[in-house]
Amino acid sequence: MKILVVNCGSSSIKYQVFNMTDESVLAKGLVDRVGIPGTVLKHEPTGKDEVVIKKDLPDHTEGMKLVLEVLVNKEYGVIADMTEIGAVGHRVVHGGEGFAKSTIIDGKVKQVIRECFDIAPLHNPPNLMGIEACQELMPSVPHVAVFDTAFHQTMKPEYFMYALPYDVYRDYKVRRYGFHGTSHFYVSHRAAEMMGKPFEECKIITLHLGNGGSMAAIKDGRVVDTSMGFTPLEGLVMGTRSGDVDPAIVFFLMDKLNMNSDEANSYFNKKSGMLGLSGVSNDLRDIMEAAKSGNERAQLALDVYHNRIKSYIGSYIAELNGCDCIVFTAGVGENGIENREAICKDLDSLGIIMDNEKNKVRGKEVDVSAADSKVRIFIIPTNEELVIARDTFGLAK
Ligand code: ADP
Repeated sequence: MKILVVNCGSSSIKYQVFNMTDESVLAKGLVDRVGIPGTVLKHEPTGKDEVVIKKDLPDHTEGMKLVLEVLVNKEYGVIADMTEIGAVGHRVVHGGEGFAKSTIIDGKVKQVIRECFDIAPLHNPPNLMGIEACQELMPSVPHVAVFDTAFHQTMKPEYFMYALPYDVYRDYKVRRYGFHGTSHFYVSHRAAEMMGKPFEECKIITLHLGNGGSMAAIKDGRVVDTSMGFTPLEGLVMGTRSGDVDPAIVFFLMDKLNMNSDEANSYFNKKSGMLGLSGVSNDLRDIMEAAKSGNERAQLALDVYHNRIKSYIGSYIAELNGCDCIVFTAGVGENGIENREAICKDLDSLGIIMDNEKNKVRGKEVDVSAADSKVRIFIIPTNEELVIARDTFGLAK
């Protein structure tokens, strides 16, 4: 069976086609600037040249139509016709408390995705738009939702509850949800395989460090704790998000900078983090370059970034009562040699010792721990699309 994996953002559609016989990727691509002048589709059929198509497209349905046309194109397509696609897997960011697993999409599932618009306003509306566009164009195949929050639904209440009046949990479902669950799921399972141990017997700390970043502590096959919370704003320092701050700072700055709640939301989500602190960029590569040429604020931002991660590692080792391995993944985790080194520096008292020579690697699945490190240190490129394809295949069968 062939599976189409779709990930819709507010103005983008990412897609991949998998052949589930051997889990190979037949093609992947991206439609960018959907609904904005200058729409571009970049299609990468495996083993053939990349194709770029420029054509303004008003909405996600038109965007998906173009994707489907490209997939069956005689020259650069990868399937003869659409009947080869057995099911479609959709990435959905927020499933609320409704889903601890992926699920076939029906009216009720769409209703839950809609109910989460309030708490995931940037992600769930375009995710649902993508689902509806695909259902319209491919009405006879199963559509499956794979939620970023699902893996974290295995957390226990003593970890997901905030110390707020209980009523806000009951009435508004204010609690910690956690995100990047599909990535934490994939890399933690790969780590268990690399250690040759059953997943359920491993204590694992996963570090998904991209433009957004989150960590998870995993034990007994479930998520014990994760750094993102009610929204993806909590936790680590990110490209443009502050991560953890004293909540009193929000009210203080709303007053001082004369911001309403929308403006404050944007301030902490889009103007803070590495961008706000360094004043250089949200991209770690730019910040590292600036720091190397003597920019002190850039160096400060990097130090704050690394220290926050270190303190989460310490806290998670306490929560897990030990740790078999830590796993680096996503843009910074897979490629940031100096970042990984800075994070693991001086953690030998926790049994974490990196081999700095082995660590000089980008984007490869490898163990970079020193021979005398009690905790193994893995770099594992994430593969959220493969998890979506596998779950979709499993449910569609
Ligand atoms: P997203 O959260 O947007 O999916 P990615 O996982 O693609 O992000 O990660 C993007 C980030 O990865 C970039 O912002 C950049 O800071 C970082 N990155 C990419 N390559 C490197 C590198 N060689 N060294 C350090 N950071 C890197």
